[in-house]
Amino acid sequence: MHEWLSEQLARRRAADLYRTRRELGSPQQPNVTVDGRPALAFCANDYLGLANHPEVKRAFIQAAERYGVGSGASHLVCGHSHEHHALEQELAAFTGRARALIFSTGYMANVGVINALVEKGDAVFEDKLNHASLLDGGLSSGAKFQRFLHNDVAQLAQKLRASEQAKKLVVVDGVFSMDGDLAPLDELASLCARERAWLMVDDAHGLGVLGNNGGGCAEVFNLNEQQLPVLMGTFGKAFGTFGAFVAGSEELIETLIQLTRTYIYTTALPPAVAAATRASLKLIQTEPWRREKLQALIAEFRTGAQALGLQLMNSHTPIQPIVVGSAATVMSWSEQLMQRGLWVGAIRPPTVAPGSARLRVTLSAEHSSAQVQQLLSALADIQSQTGDHS
Ligand SMILES: *Cc1c(COP(=O)(O)O)cnc(C)c1O
Repeated sequence: MHEWLSEQLARRRAADLYRTRRELGSPQQPNVTVDGRPALAFCANDYLGLANHPEVKRAFIQAAERYGVGSGASHLVCGHSHEHHALEQELAAFTGRARALIFSTGYMANVGVINALVEKGDAVFEDKLNHASLLDGGLSSGAKFQRFLHNDVAQLAQKLRASEQAKKLVVVDGVFSMDGDLAPLDELASLCARERAWLMVDDAHGLGVLGNNGGGCAEVFNLNEQQLPVLMGTFGKAFGTFGAFVAGSEELIETLIQLTRTYIYTTALPPAVAAATRASLKLIQTEPWRREKLQALIAEFRTGAQALGLQLMNSHTPIQPIVVGSAATVMSWSEQLMQRGLWVGAIRPPTVAPGSARLRVTLSAEHSSAQVQQLLSALADIQSQTGDHS
C-alpha cells in the first residue's frame, strides 16, 4: 500500500497537480492571516462579506446558548429544530416557492436530489461544466447520463429529442463556479417545457448576489416554480454560513423527505447554523448595497484587468477567472502573488480542462476599491517581471 500511495503522490507532484492546504488564522475577510502572515485575500466565496458579520455571529452565539451545539439526530428522528423549520419557511418565501428543505451540504443535496428524482430507465442531461457534485449525482443515479457542451442549448435540444427515456432531468449550474458565467436559463426553461423535461438549477453562486433582491438566477430570469421546478442553493457562499437547501413545490419537498438518502441518513445541521443563516437571509434582503458595491468592484476589476491585457472570461459575477494556461504557470502566478501578500486561488485540472488553468479571483462586498487596485498593481508587476502576457 505504501508504495502505491507514494507513487500516486510523486506522479501528481511531477505534473504540478499536487494539492496542498494553507492555514487560515483569522476570520474569512479581505485581510486575513495565512500561514502565520498577513495577506489580502481574493479567493473566498463569501461574496457579500457575511461570514464574519456581527449580526450573523450574534445569531449563532445566541442560538448555541439556547439550543446547544449538536442537533443530536437526523431531521426525521429528532434533530429538526425550530430554527431549521423557520429557516425553511423563510427560504420558501424568499425564493417564491411553496416549500424549502435544508440539507447538511450542497454536495449532499445535489447527489441526493438527483438520485431521488431519477433512476435506471430515466435520463439525466448535464452541462459539461457542472459542479462535481451534480456530475456525481447524475453518474450514481443509474439513469442514462448525458453531458452537453457548455451552455449549448441546441445540442441539448437534439439530445432531448433523441432520448427514448420517458423521464428526463436537465441539470445545470445557475452560475458556473470556475468560469463565472450564467446558464441561459430562459432558453433552458422553454426547452424543458417543450420537451417535457424537468429542470434543476444549482444556484450556489447566484443566490444573494444576483437579482435586485438577491434572489439569484431565478430572479434574473424571472422563473417561477413551474418553469424552474427544482431550485437548489447553498449557504457556504454568499450566505456566509454552511449548509444548503432545495426549494420547490409541496409535492417535490414531501417526495424528497421520503426518498433522499443524503437527507434521511445524516445528522441535521447544528440549529445555531440555521439561526445564523436566518440572520444572513435577513441581511441579504435588507442590504441591497452589498450587491451594488460588489457590482461596482467587479466592473472596476474588469476594466483594470482588461487594460493589462489579461485574459478574462465572460463573467459579470464575483467570480473573475484569469486564464493563464498550464498548471505550472498558474502555480507560479499564485506563488508570486503570495510573495506580494495577495492570496488568489489557483485552479488546475481536473477541476478545469487541461490548458485552461486559471487564477480564480473572487470579489466580496467587503473589499475596497483600493484593495482591488492593489491586486491589479500586483498583477501588472508580475506581468512585467515575467514578460508573461497571458
Ligand atoms: C460549493 C458548491 C456546491 C457544494 O456546496 P457545499 O455546501 O459546499 O457542499 C455545490 N454546487 C456548486 C455549484 C458549488 O459551487
